[in-house]
Amino acid sequence: MGIKLERVILRHLKMPLVHFFETSFSRTYERDIILVEAVADGVSGWGEVTAGENPYYNEEWTGSIWPLLIDYVVPRIVNASLDSASDVYPRLAHIRGHYMTRGGMEAAVWDLQARLHGNPLWKEIGGGARREIPCGVSIGIQDSVGQLLEKIRTELDAGYQRIKMKIKPGWDVEVIREVRKAFPGILLMADANSAYTLKDTSRLKQLDEFGLMMIEQPLAHDDIIDHAELQAALETPICLDECIRSAHHAEQAIRLKAGRIVNIKLGRVGGFAEAKRVHDVCQANGIPVWCGGMLESGIGRAHNIALSTLPDFVLPGDVSASKRYWKQDIVAPPVEVSPRGTIAISDRPGFGYDLDRDLLERLTVRSKILSRDVLS
Ligand SMILES: [Mg+2]
Repeated sequence: MGIKLERVILRHLKMPLVHFFETSFSRTYERDIILVEAVADGVSGWGEVTAGENPYYNEEWTGSIWPLLIDYVVPRIVNASLDSASDVYPRLAHIRGHYMTRGGMEAAVWDLQARLHGNPLWKEIGGGARREIPCGVSIGIQDSVGQLLEKIRTELDAGYQRIKMKIKPGWDVEVIREVRKAFPGILLMADANSAYTLKDTSRLKQLDEFGLMMIEQPLAHDDIIDHAELQAALETPICLDECIRSAHHAEQAIRLKAGRIVNIKLGRVGGFAEAKRVHDVCQANGIPVWCGGMLESGIGRAHNIALSTLPDFVLPGDVSASKRYWKQDIVAPPVEVSPRGTIAISDRPGFGYDLDRDLLERLTVRSKILSRDVLS
């Protein structure tokens, strides 16, 4: 039948975080969330652009997303006759980079297609390998080791299956030693967000004694070759995040043995179609994957849950409960994690949750409606 969009509505929300979140490159107190609503036959599908407030994780930020959607992304989609949601990625492939912006549009059309078919999103994308997904948490850099240990205790008590801690030079070997002393048996991993170079190899080698599940993206955001050299020197598996922006990158990284695990983020690869292709390349090569997080609102969170039902998502991801980030989430009920550290998947059409429309309106700082026949 195909999908003929009537209009696309963009919303910019400001959502204050319950606690600040610090990585090797920045500290975030409030999130700017850009939502994409795609409407056809009176039905709405929802997407979220997962880029940050600053161009530090990748080249995208709130200020780049808005004009790119209006000038380039939405006109190419709202005026198209789409056979299916799979047509969105190739229609936007002429845009270099900016995968998260393209991915926000793409995810909205997948959600819309699922609703038009009366399917849950996980079914529409070919998932369903599990009825509940295993959950871990990502804990940012803290002001003190004591605070970090306290946070880890809280998350373990809440049931989370694995702990990921952010590291950077000066907050690494000694801190992990303290964590291991306090929690010898837990599933533990470290994420460096590109804070090291090959010159740090001997320092990173010291991490081998701690039995980490993996160290995530230790080297440059766009590097594969140095990671291969580092992986050959380390016992700890390297997990690749920032440098895998396509299935082609995943195939190259696997060929060079640059890592043994891949973190798949929906936005980083431009949406569901490419995320599935990255998943398939990894699965065919015996590389396990897990789903990373970008401090998403409930919509992006629900998309991550659907993605995590694909068969090769065998490791606990960063998809966690709404209340870890938000006093009140825009989805209802909020995303909840069971005492054994899992999130149950929903069989309702689309991404599986209701939207809290009143809250959505209250948090919106600007919006724009783009109808069919906008200039392309
Ligand atoms: Mg990461």
